[in-house]
Amino acid sequence: MTAECDFLVIGAGSAGCLVARTLDLHGYKVRLVEAGPPTPPLRRPVDYLQTFGTEQDWRFRTVPQPGLAGRRLDQPRGRGPGGSTRINAMIWYPPRDADLQRLHRAGGDDWSPNRLAASLTAVTQAVSPQPPRWLSETARRFLSRSTAEAVDPPHAFARMADRQGRLTAADLLADRPTIETIAAHVDRVLFGDDPLAKPHSIDLSPTRAVGVLVHPHSADATCEERNSLPLFARHGVILCGGSFASPSILLRSGIGAPDAIAAHGLKPRIAINAVGQNLVDHLIMPITFATSGRDRFPTPLSTADLARWQIAATGPAASNLAEAGAIYSLNSASSSGREFQVHVTPTHYLLYPDRRAPAAMTVGINLCQPRSRGAVDLAAADPFTPPLIDPGYLTETTDLDDLVAAVIQVRQLVAAGSLATGGGAELIPGGTKTTVAAIAKAVRRFSQTLYHPCGTCRIGVDADSVVDPDCRVRGTESLHVIDASVFPEVPTVNPNATVMMIAHHAATRLAASFDAAS
Ligand SMILES: Cc1cc2nc3c(=O)[nH]c(=O)nc-3n(C[C@H](O)[C@H](O)[C@H](O)COP(=O)(O)OP(=O)(O)OC[C@H]3O[C@@H](n4cnc5c(N)ncnc54)[C@H](O)[C@@H]3O)c2cc1C
Repeated sequence: MTAECDFLVIGAGSAGCLVARTLDLHGYKVRLVEAGPPTPPLRRPVDYLQTFGTEQDWRFRTVPQPGLAGRRLDQPRGRGPGGSTRINAMIWYPPRDADLQRLHRAGGDDWSPNRLAASLTAVTQAVSPQPPRWLSETARRFLSRSTAEAVDPPHAFARMADRQGRLTAADLLADRPTIETIAAHVDRVLFGDDPLAKPHSIDLSPTRAVGVLVHPHSADATCEERNSLPLFARHGVILCGGSFASPSILLRSGIGAPDAIAAHGLKPRIAINAVGQNLVDHLIMPITFATSGRDRFPTPLSTADLARWQIAATGPAASNLAEAGAIYSLNSASSSGREFQVHVTPTHYLLYPDRRAPAAMTVGINLCQPRSRGAVDLAAADPFTPPLIDPGYLTETTDLDDLVAAVIQVRQLVAAGSLATGGGAELIPGGTKTTVAAIAKAVRRFSQTLYHPCGTCRIGVDADSVVDPDCRVRGTESLHVIDASVFPEVPTVNPNATVMMIAHHAATRLAASFDAAS
């Protein structure tokens, strides 16, 4: 296939769809390459947990986490058009001032809050976030108390939704028919000196990205049957595979720590030790309370609940489970103003949707800015082998100390009546777990990913960063990474709105640079 397009965008997730849309609106011919099958997403908000472990999910797992008592955590990632917006909790939380300041510090003046404002407005208009169409009794009770202690008071989360329910990033391409989407799994980037590129490339520079090598999607193909195919682009390749796939594609392309690449029999091309490093994720600790049977969130949904959804798009089927939340400043002396977020769900966090789960509600707590860092690395050169994911949860002892302090603080808020739970007994960690040691043990045992991995191709003005302020991979021409992996740190809140904002901003800058050159 020859260079029929201007840009190849790899991954049709939150960032990839925004990048493709923005470049298309600027008049560039875009091919969007997505590994997952083009099956329609589940639109009923409550159904997203059902996508885990299916073909809509990459079904990744972490390596054993010493900070979590040796547990391995599932790491769901959306697969198919829309990426993780196919399977996420739909919460639309705009970046806070601290998040904009961090991007400014990392990316320099081109990433100042003023420059980002236009992109935040543009994506907010495109998405048009909606208030929830239904709230559980649990969420209503939580919202009935406005606590003076909260930095961001209890509120129902806005959603990425429309009248049909879930809105995915791919839905934002419905009015852009000129974008061509190809169902294929990207192996690696092709550079000008690649034997596959030579017949097509006018620029044979070893640092110029001219295309990618893909394996077209076929659900039934065995490993041996998967044929590879080169795709080419005139202006460049933009990786939007997310925090696990983008660094993996770079490593398979020879970009990363040379020893790690050579260890898999691959040829190192450009040495950037930071590729795959700096992995950071929100870790959520559930504090679960018994509720009355009357408040039990229905599972399975009744016929009447299903009819309510079909007729009026309301009722429990319209719940995203993580319906409401707030942000608090830690009040422990040692935590120097660190913040934690709570997500309130009308369910037993660990047992729902098992129909035997008891009637319960959960206050899930996570530090807004965890300090622990991990890494993602190749497990093998084969593009279908899942990467080694080591988020390094709780490797910084202050993260464990401060999560314990947050558990204690939430209990104090509940006891003071400032955080309404319904008055039932605490099931997790459990009312008898009162010492710091017992709470710490529970945090290690019960915490889960909040599904927000970031940072593995971090942006920076410094020479050690993976991408420069244009999101261009250092040492390359025409190879960019634009997705959650470029965040220097995880946003303090649910990151999807911020991912879409940076995608719009970076793609607008990229288009402008080509507009100016032509
Ligand atoms: C279960 C879950 C719940 C979440 N809830 C929320 C929430 O409520 N609110 C919020 O703000 N954030 C939430 N998040 C996080 C948010 O969805 C992500 O941060 C965001 O979608 C990341 O965007 P991205 O573009 O970096 O990656 P993704 O959206 O994951 O997109 C990456 C795309 O690349 C494709 N891809 C990967 N590898 C290849 C390859 N080799 N070849 C071709 N294509 C490839 C993938 O299939 C995918 O479509 C949640 C995430 C999950 C998983």
